[in-house]
Amino acid sequence: MAVSPSIEKAQNMALCQFCEESTIKWKCINCGLFLCQFCCSKIHSKIKASQEHTIINLKDCGTKEATAIIQKVDLENMSCTIHTERKCWVYCDDCSNPICSDCLTESHKKHEYKKLHEVFDTMISNIHAMKDRLETEIQLYKKEKENLEQLLSDGDENFEETKIQIIEAKKEMKKIISAYASDLLEKLEVEWKPVENKIKRQLSTIIKNKNELESRKRLLDKTLRSHQTSDIFCVGQTLENTLPTKPLGSIQHKKTKFICGKVWEFESEISTTFGELYTVPSLELIDSYETDISIVTKIHCDYNNELVIASWFDEKLQTVMFDHNNICVENEVKTRIYDMARIQNEDIILSSRNHNLRQYTTNGQENPLCRSLLLKH
Ligand SMILES: [Zn+2]
Ligand SMILES: [Zn+2]
Ligand SMILES: [Zn+2]
Ligand SMILES: [Zn+2]
Repeated sequence: MAVSPSIEKAQNMALCQFCEESTIKWKCINCGLFLCQFCCSKIHSKIKASQEHTIINLKDCGTKEATAIIQKVDLENMSCTIHTERKCWVYCDDCSNPICSDCLTESHKKHEYKKLHEVFDTMISNIHAMKDRLETEIQLYKKEKENLEQLLSDGDENFEETKIQIIEAKKEMKKIISAYASDLLEKLEVEWKPVENKIKRQLSTIIKNKNELESRKRLLDKTLRSHQTSDIFCVGQTLENTLPTKPLGSIQHKKTKFICGKVWEFESEISTTFGELYTVPSLELIDSYETDISIVTKIHCDYNNELVIASWFDEKLQTVMFDHNNICVENEVKTRIYDMARIQNEDIILSSRNHNLRQYTTNGQENPLCRSLLLKH
């Protein structure tokens, strides 16, 4: 508890308020005076009016006990708010106020009263109870605050991590798609460019030959239209019989077609290619059970807390019951099981090495299962 300002001031002054010489050691609650050892025992206690006064040692100031003593003295000396020269005497229950003897005979006649110190004690204990409730409530809020802060930081961390993963996946996917597209473009070019060059070469030969032939034809036309027979002789004697060589072989080209992947048309397929967001389930361990099987490879839940478990490695098939933290083996068959499933009549169908399918009844019997029975169920 904090030391009251008056005590602090007195301790700073540190001189007895009687003799004004010696160091203070005591406080009289009733007089409100700070006293030295000598004045307290030799003077203050000898004064008749002071004999009932309450004295506390300054080193006890601020303790719970000292506070209770001070409050008790203060309560005994509490002045009436109306008759300031009078001390409060009782507590008026009707008006909920401490009152003096004058009040009693004036405005509070026929009212219900209570003992002042009893009401005070009740109020003190009510305040303590309320303080405890507040403390409990504060602890709950503190815990809830911590939980929320943890939730916030975990959630934020998860958000940032997942965000980075999506961005990384996007980059990676872009890289892969870009490389794949470059590859396709390169293949397309490898297919087309040699053919294109061959066609261009052939085309230029064809154009060159055609022009040459047309020019020769134009000369012959001109000669034929001539009225000079000497022209006919001149051309006829030098008539070139050879024709330009035609380019050999026809060029074959199979067209290429690009079929756009369907991955971009369906969202579900993009998610398969790109990845998807999942809500992580929160799992909590409720109980654990110990079994003599080293690795349980198959589990089948049965009715009535019964479980069928099997191990491919241990070559065991067991019907077990839960008993507190243990498993009680009801039935055990030595067999290697690959898979199992329940059929309608509580029996289990097993897939094992030696028989394709077997029927295992709850009483531990097993029969090879014929194909017709499997189809029937
Ligand atoms: Zn003194
Ligand atoms: Zn005194
Ligand atoms: Zn009064
Ligand atoms: Zn009253």
